[in-house]
Amino acid sequence: MVEKPDVGELTPPDRTLMGPGPSEVHPRVLRAMSTPLVGHLDPSFVEIMDEVQELLRYTFRTDNQWTIPVSGTGSAAMEAAIGNVVEPGDTMLVPTNGYFGGRMASMAERAGGKVVEVDAPWGEPLDPADVADALAEHDPDVFGFVHAETSTGVRQPDVSELTAAAHDHDALVIADTVTSLGGVELRVDEWNIDVAYSGPQKCLSCPPGASPLTLNDRAMEKVLSREEPARSWYLDLSLLEGYWGDERAYHHTAPITNVYALREALRLVAEEGIEERWERHREVAGALKAGVEAMGLEMNAPDEYWLPSLNAVRVPDGVTDTDVTDYLIDQYDLEIATGLGDLDGDIFRIGCMGHSARAETVSYLMAALGDALDAQGADVDVQAGLAATAEKLGDR
Ligand SMILES: *Cc1c(COP(=O)(O)O)cnc(C)c1O
Repeated sequence: MVEKPDVGELTPPDRTLMGPGPSEVHPRVLRAMSTPLVGHLDPSFVEIMDEVQELLRYTFRTDNQWTIPVSGTGSAAMEAAIGNVVEPGDTMLVPTNGYFGGRMASMAERAGGKVVEVDAPWGEPLDPADVADALAEHDPDVFGFVHAETSTGVRQPDVSELTAAAHDHDALVIADTVTSLGGVELRVDEWNIDVAYSGPQKCLSCPPGASPLTLNDRAMEKVLSREEPARSWYLDLSLLEGYWGDERAYHHTAPITNVYALREALRLVAEEGIEERWERHREVAGALKAGVEAMGLEMNAPDEYWLPSLNAVRVPDGVTDTDVTDYLIDQYDLEIATGLGDLDGDIFRIGCMGHSARAETVSYLMAALGDALDAQGADVDVQAGLAATAEKLGDR
């Protein structure tokens, strides 16, 4: 006999989220999520869809008509981008300098594409000269890169140079902007990015569930003239056009509550102003960075490609990374992450995204991290770190 489960009321701990996502959610977004459902074809919801699309265009800095939230997490938007743009037999050029380039490669292969690589070590951005060489050597149909590599804390600079090189070879450019959208300068149209996808739970500070995607006409033309339909029915953009395009016909039931949440999160972006929001991330994460450096710790990425939304900090000698993250959870209800892949054990990954990118959260993090490192016997100057952070935050 299957027993009746004895499961209590949901009481999640009250964590401060400063890892690689999800980030802290703004109370207004949580409130939007507790408003009543309407049907996914309700006239009021159709209006909400238009508003979300308009807000997404503002945030992506694009006029692309094809700008939608994809049902699912960032990986769903990623697979919608790659699975529709890459056709069987196409070649896609992907980067090897982090975890998410590897995921791009897996998705391109599943779409029937052939994968070729442009190399850079984990913790460094792509060199435009290497990208140009790889484009000349492989003549790919599609070039993918990660604008903000969450696994390494690296921001890819020179985006316009990369897109110009790709376009010289007639390759379409897909950008992973999951950890940059709404937190780090990103200009889809000005930088000539053909396709960009993102996620809601990083710099937009929204729970995961509906994920931004934008494609320009050139990319959409390729998608709509495919010989073979995309392998995923659920993520087939030629079918989703029926729902998000002019027709507004049923394809699948949109995650209504997540669309509400995204709308409110994007409204917060527009209220603040996108450029002001980028500036806030730079300043608040800058205070975090100044603090850890003054403590005697080292950032993994040099200033030229430091990623404010994800701060990769070297684990100091004699300290075990997981002892620190466990201590922070136990003593402070505070989440940060350890390294992945080639950087496993070497770095802490401290997110400073959206609603987490505030003076209060960064001050709390600095005090907690200082205590955790001190408790592990690390040689750090906690007071100097706190003073440096306070000084930078005071400048704001
Ligand atoms: C988080 C992340 C993803 C995947 O998003 P999920 O919401 O976890 O599916 C993809 N790319 C980057 C750079 C990310 O940080």
